[in-house]
Amino acid sequence: MQYGQTFLVLRRLLARIRDVMAEEGDPQRRLDRVVTAIAEDMRAEVCSLYVRRAGDVLELFATQGLRQSAVHTTRLRVSEGLIGEIAAKARPLALADAQNHPSFVYRPETGEEVYHSLMGVPVLRGGRVLGVLAVQSRTRRQYADEEIEALQTVAMVLAEVLDRGDLVGRAELARVEGTGLLPARLEGVAVCAGLGIGVAVPRQPLLSIRRIVAEDTRIEHERLRQAVADMHGALEVMFGSSDMPAAGEHRDVLETYRMIAEDVGWLRRIGEAINSGLTAEAAVQKVADDIRTRLGSVADSYLRERVHDLEDLARRLMQHLIGSDAAAADMPANGDLILIASSMGPAELLDFDRGRLRGVVLEEGSPASHVAIVARALDLPVVGQVRGALNRIEAGDLLIVDGDHGQVLVRPGEDVRMAFVESLRARNERKAGYAALRDLPAETADGARVTLNINAGLLVDMMHLSETGADGVGLYRTEVPFMVRPEMPDVESQRTLYRRVLDHANGRPVVFRTLDVGGDKVLPYLGEPVDENPAMGWRAIRVSFDRPAMLRQQLRALIRAAAGGPLSVMFPMITEVAELDYARALLDRELDRQRERGDPLPTVLRVGAMLEVPALLFQLPALFARVEFVSIGSNDLFQFLRASDRSSARTSERYDTLSPLVLGLLRNVVRHAEAAGVPVSLCGEMASRPLEAMALMGVGLRNISVAPPAVGPVKTMIRSLTVSTLEKYMESLYDSTSMSVRDKLQAFAADHGVII
Ligand code: PEP
Ligand code: MG
Repeated sequence: MQYGQTFLVLRRLLARIRDVMAEEGDPQRRLDRVVTAIAEDMRAEVCSLYVRRAGDVLELFATQGLRQSAVHTTRLRVSEGLIGEIAAKARPLALADAQNHPSFVYRPETGEEVYHSLMGVPVLRGGRVLGVLAVQSRTRRQYADEEIEALQTVAMVLAEVLDRGDLVGRAELARVEGTGLLPARLEGVAVCAGLGIGVAVPRQPLLSIRRIVAEDTRIEHERLRQAVADMHGALEVMFGSSDMPAAGEHRDVLETYRMIAEDVGWLRRIGEAINSGLTAEAAVQKVADDIRTRLGSVADSYLRERVHDLEDLARRLMQHLIGSDAAAADMPANGDLILIASSMGPAELLDFDRGRLRGVVLEEGSPASHVAIVARALDLPVVGQVRGALNRIEAGDLLIVDGDHGQVLVRPGEDVRMAFVESLRARNERKAGYAALRDLPAETADGARVTLNINAGLLVDMMHLSETGADGVGLYRTEVPFMVRPEMPDVESQRTLYRRVLDHANGRPVVFRTLDVGGDKVLPYLGEPVDENPAMGWRAIRVSFDRPAMLRQQLRALIRAAAGGPLSVMFPMITEVAELDYARALLDRELDRQRERGDPLPTVLRVGAMLEVPALLFQLPALFARVEFVSIGSNDLFQFLRASDRSSARTSERYDTLSPLVLGLLRNVVRHAEAAGVPVSLCGEMASRPLEAMALMGVGLRNISVAPPAVGPVKTMIRSLTVSTLEKYMESLYDSTSMSVRDKLQAFAADHGVII
């Protein structure tokens, strides 16, 4: 068929399908007439529609040409046979000789052995495969690209029809094994901590498109232009007036998103789809489907975030084209809500009423995803990677989102619900109790003052300083802004960010750690392969030395940000003191540069090292002679010390941090620090757990840096502890060769009224 001819046939066919849909009557009869119309107009002997059911099964729902007795009988697993392959890969397939294809499976009940050629396309809705539409012919014919495109367009209409429940009742589609209305527990990963209870609102994949084929292409181009302009205007308003904190890395995420909204490549592709005869909204959906099909399964997290951004933007653009409000659609009139989606762009959360949104469940989504960064800024619990969430959760189901443990409870029984309501209440009460502690010092019962800092890595974390009453920031991890941007931030944007951090700190000290990237924290623009053993690979100061311009720019930005005030810089993963000398030399060059420019220098400069590689333990006197402070990175130090991967439960749970060996080592470091008169702190995760923090006090540490939510519990512990008694008690433990003294320390706490 010629291109123009295909287009005419397509328009006629779409009109026929529309007419059939408009009629009353038995849905199956109407579906049968739809496949008959497709077979006739596409000049094929067979047209079949397979619909995806639960358990990843494709069921033959209607056919023209295959045996009618096979309808609702023939079932293929996704990835079984050619039809299954089309569904699994979400890609079209066109074969002149289908039966000789290695994936072909023969189903005798269908009588399809006489048909040689096959063309099939996935029925896609917002990137999800709802089914497969296929035509077959006896002759071995080659299909042209235009024919594949035409069948894809027909499949778009069928996707709308299936999704609306016009031809196959929603109840029929939803009737799937394994769900029923019983309570269920779905597992995922903890993306944002917290607990939320509310009613499920599945986010609709994309909006319903009523008009697919354009009457006049010029009008569609104009509609697109207008919708793009409206969308940009609306984004400006939304970013300007949202109830999120005004500054933070989530702003960077949204900025990147705004840049993508202006991406000419994306808009050009939509324009081309309009040229092929689609309406503007159908063109937006087609391009969104194409992108998702091509990039949806890439492992690269950066690219995946882009796909989510584009889907989010496609939805927004369609709202402007169709003129409806997606956030308001299908929304219960009142009550608390939990949003369910396959994936999400970062701005989408802002569409929903913050007063009612209580949590989010995603089929994809990881803690580093952009939507997670925004959710964290909004203090929303999120559970990600919940397989099949959209199929297994119905609109209106009561849900409990447990963002601490990465689980979702669906339709929980009354007793379970009450238990969680109680836990939510207790949690809020505890929070209120910790808030009351905010202005009291972290001081032991016998008067030892402890510096209690927080760890931060996002600008939004800075608000925890005043919220918790922490003394300062003991570890500011600088890598996040480098990871969320498409290119390396320049000196000026880094300077602005660090300045904002210092402004938020409002005079309280902040320790900036230079970039700890590389390894598994991949920067999209660094272009280096991941090492086989990333934790011990090319990361942190090693990357900085091999790419000195990156480190020098960061130091320059820090010096400029702090000019006229104090600055604390800390270098990660120092393995031998000579590395520290080299890092300091680079810092000195940047200070000289600042001086030569005639710009003000930091008033006080404190240079520190992370003690997190065991080799450095053998150079303690030399280390303390060179620095203004040391911070023990217990996460890395202990994984390297005992060769036990911190990210693998099998190894990390094997050894206890509360062992005499570890505690003795820490006490030794503290002694060296005291002898040199240099402050030492600890900023690894162990400090955030009250019992471990108690042991740290016992070895003599008086400065720790913890996760913000741990400030309250740790301060409570400190204020209830008589540390001189603990120090004496712990002297009896160091010589032991047992692998853990956890129970002994627990007993001490219980006997001495230490609140842990
Ligand atoms: C550590 O290793 O203990 C540390 C605080 O650094 P990170 O967790 O960022 O590696
Ligand atoms: Mg570390």
